[in-house]
Amino acid sequence: MGLETALPTDYVLTTQIQRVINWARRSSVWPIPFATACCGIELMATASSRYDLARFGAEVMRFSPRQSDLLIVAGRVSIKMMPVLQRIYQQMTEPRWVISMGACASTGGVFDNYAVVQGVDQFIPVDVYVPGCPPRPEQLIEGVMAIQRIIDEDRIPPAGPGGKRAGLGIAIAPTHSVAPQPVGLGS
Ligand code: SF4
Repeated sequence: MGLETALPTDYVLTTQIQRVINWARRSSVWPIPFATACCGIELMATASSRYDLARFGAEVMRFSPRQSDLLIVAGRVSIKMMPVLQRIYQQMTEPRWVISMGACASTGGVFDNYAVVQGVDQFIPVDVYVPGCPPRPEQLIEGVMAIQRIIDEDRIPPAGPGGKRAGLGIAIAPTHSVAPQPVGLGS
């Protein structure tokens, strides 16, 4: 059963090419998971049959950035790992979108220390933040739907310099001040 059984086949539809392209893109976002910690378990649960991510056309998890256009960062990211995440982002196809899933990816969470990035948006552009520790699958699905709403509003080519997304301010250094040591380091 399909549309062709419900509609007369000699109908003509008029629309804008931008709407058709955005409709195709929003219905086929292919996520690449970057799961480093416990939020990744909820990400895996979201992909299970119980939550049926296929309703949004986003069930095809790819582990190749060149076949993906939605990066889901789930879990804390260390300073050492950030160049890897940036490289993956750079290798993804345009246009591409990013979800920061959970408190750790968005803010560093409870890991307020020199080794953990205090928010991945300091290094890559983030489109949607999903709050929680960890967020439930329903929350991540709401994040995917938010991405779809962003795609609905996208222009062709997408807004930005040269028709591309905002450039990366690549600097592998924390942007927060290092907290003083609780005890003297000695001489
Ligand atoms: S936000 Fe909570 S659940 Fe997610 S990675 Fe951090 S500690 Fe784990």
